[in-house]
Amino acid sequence: MEFKVVEKFVSINGEGRRSGQLAVFIRFAGCNLKCSYCDTMWANEKNVSYELMSSHDIYDYIKSTNVTNVTLTGGEPLLQDGIIHLLELLAKDTTLHVEIETNGSVSLEPFIALENSPSFTMDYKLPSSLMEDNMLLSNFNNLAKKDTLKFVAGSLLDLEKAYELIIKYNLTHKTNVYISPVYGNIQLEKIVDFMINKKINGVQLQLQLHKIIWDPNKRGV
Ligand code: SF4
Repeated sequence: MEFKVVEKFVSINGEGRRSGQLAVFIRFAGCNLKCSYCDTMWANEKNVSYELMSSHDIYDYIKSTNVTNVTLTGGEPLLQDGIIHLLELLAKDTTLHVEIETNGSVSLEPFIALENSPSFTMDYKLPSSLMEDNMLLSNFNNLAKKDTLKFVAGSLLDLEKAYELIIKYNLTHKTNVYISPVYGNIQLEKIVDFMINKKINGVQLQLQLHKIIWDPNKRGV
């Protein structure tokens, strides 16, 4: 079983629970969605260049970096054929903290039962993504306190929808809830004002650190 890996690198974790810490990133090719603001669309193109790596190749690369936070990203990593075998292999190494960035359209059910299961940073695609119809609401029940639910907001309408879902599904009691701006699409002050006006407790505004530190379009960071 081999995976199409389009990038692998060490950087700081720009989002999620371990934001600001070093992480080794494995980016897989391909995604089932087409978000209006996608900044890694190149990784989803059919003709993208990639490296074929087995689970053991990926594990060996991770260990060679001496970095213990691992971020599997894409594209959509959970759609990779055989990803469960990679997760099982990584789960055996208890020195690693494995996090999967997933887009909210793929059921987490098959993955949560794994022993030493990874943590999920799951997006909920709000209206401005144009992909909201693909969101799997049942995934809210599969998120735990080790996971993160990230509302990627690009407009006031997005914020309103995020707020509605947070209240309706009592999300802050289930998992860590973040609001993350679509870079350049919404003023950060507007998000803070919204949070103040609605008295949103237990929700964290998160900025994508890598877009602040480097050129927002830079790859491999
Ligand atoms: S889910 Fe992520 S990778 Fe896929 S199109 Fe949306 S932003 Fe891009």
